[in-house]
Amino acid sequence: MTKPVKRIVILGGGTAGWITAGLIAADHPKGYEDAVEVTLIESPDVGPIGVGEGTWPTMRETLKRIGLPESDFVASCEASFKQGSKFIGWVDGTAEDQYYHPFMLPEGYFQFSVPDIWQALPTDKPFADVVGLQPQVCEHGLAPKQISTPDYDGVLNYGYHLNAGLFGERLKRHCQERLGVRYICDHVSAVVGEHDAPIEGLQTREHGLIAGDLFIDCSGAKALLISGHYGVPFRSQSQVLFNNRALAVQVPYPSGSADIASATLSTAQDVGWIWDIGLPSRRGVGYVYCSEYLQEEQARACLADYLSASVGAQAAAELTPRAISFEPGYRESFWRHNCVAVGMASGFLEPLEASALALVELSAKMISDELPMTTDTMGAVARRFNERFNYRWQRIIDFLKLHYVLSRRQSPYWQANREIDSIPDSLQELLALWQQRAPNRNDLFHVDEVFPAASYWYVLYGMGFEPEVRKGARGGRDFASARKLFEENLRQLPRFLQALPSNRRLLEQLSQQR
Ligand SMILES: Cc1cc2nc3c(=O)[nH]c(=O)nc-3n(C[C@H](O)[C@H](O)[C@H](O)COP(=O)(O)OP(=O)(O)OC[C@H]3O[C@@H](n4cnc5c(N)ncnc54)[C@H](O)[C@@H]3O)c2cc1C
Repeated sequence: MTKPVKRIVILGGGTAGWITAGLIAADHPKGYEDAVEVTLIESPDVGPIGVGEGTWPTMRETLKRIGLPESDFVASCEASFKQGSKFIGWVDGTAEDQYYHPFMLPEGYFQFSVPDIWQALPTDKPFADVVGLQPQVCEHGLAPKQISTPDYDGVLNYGYHLNAGLFGERLKRHCQERLGVRYICDHVSAVVGEHDAPIEGLQTREHGLIAGDLFIDCSGAKALLISGHYGVPFRSQSQVLFNNRALAVQVPYPSGSADIASATLSTAQDVGWIWDIGLPSRRGVGYVYCSEYLQEEQARACLADYLSASVGAQAAAELTPRAISFEPGYRESFWRHNCVAVGMASGFLEPLEASALALVELSAKMISDELPMTTDTMGAVARRFNERFNYRWQRIIDFLKLHYVLSRRQSPYWQANREIDSIPDSLQELLALWQQRAPNRNDLFHVDEVFPAASYWYVLYGMGFEPEVRKGARGGRDFASARKLFEENLRQLPRFLQALPSNRRLLEQLSQQR
């Protein structure tokens, strides 16, 4: 029997729950034919995971769409501007081993076959420095815009570093006060409905049965609906991406005027890697590693060593990192009957490229854009969603694995990461193709790939990838004009370095303006 889809019930008040609630409520407000009522249930007993502090540029569009002004967001979430990631020690761990994966596309991305040009270019500069300005802007700790640049616009492309706890709180307030999301603070104790039929409602301790037409599972790693109720299997990826533990810690700055890094710093270790991000008030640092190769005590010692270099041994010893376990992988399907999983409930992969919140944004946008008006089309929307996100998870896995495959580090952990059995067939195929021709924009099939071809180029050439065969024809044809473009780009650099304020300065200016 056809039923309208009007009551959207979201289980979970972590970042995934609130981003999803905000996007759906903003897109389907009262007074329109496709208006819906959004209810979010959050347990008072189970806190959100409280990590997830690096975003992609997509977050600007998301926040704009839900109507949160940028200056408000930046101040209330202790956000700073992120322009990409800097990978340190990933190739061989020597002193000069570092490269950038910036958010800007390379100059000439749509005009030339940039990799062909690059492979023919006689230069000792890093790839990312030749095809863009952003690495140098980051090296100088500069912001991606000026105070006069409008909200959510940038001179250079950017996302954010933010305080995850404050972000959830701010979204919660905005969703309730501005977007009319109904909030229920209660613990869900049972799911009402057959296991092979749509869910009818969620039983709560204090508020009785919360009925709905579409249920969004944002209950975190517990995955209460998609796994607990429907039993959708989890596809572990631990054979490809080995890391399964994290230690996270908040690190005070030595002074209130300390520089705020413009990129996430990711420093490779003998086992795993350490993230280091700069917020206005503190750094967020974490060690991601694999428990098969390292005990927790050894990991704590390694993280303390890393921190000692910036805060001193005594201050580092006083910090107590929080331990988090996870299994890398994702659900066999994400949408079953009238239930769709978003966020940690749908899966999780190590935060090497901060892709989790980006997937939350993409999921919430697709749910909102394709929201079925009646149950008649729910099956079709579910099928399309599952197909698209299955593809997206696989592409993210390939891209993360690329960082490990190209490394020449020699510890057992890194060697095992290069074992052919641990590399997905799809990535092996690309690596084989790239031995005979330069990577290109057609390597990936979709126009809206999670990681565009440019991201692959930054990692490949950043890590010193060399094809077996150097073909010069395409590079030769466009060589002169591309080279001119790159040189012109570099000539602009001093102007940018002079005109852009530091990350901290811009944040101070924004707070004075409020
Ligand atoms: C170490 C680490 C680092 C990360 N770094 C990044 C990063 O840099 N960038 C990025 O994009 N992502 C990152 N992530 C991922 C990111 O933290 C998550 O994707 C994001 O926080 C979303 O989490 P969530 O909302 O799905 O789950 P959670 O935050 O776990 O929220 C679950 C919610 O479900 C509710 N709930 C659970 N059970 C019940 C119940 N019975 N009844 C009612 N409510 C219930 C809880 O109250 C809670 O509100 C990282 C993750 C980890 C582990």
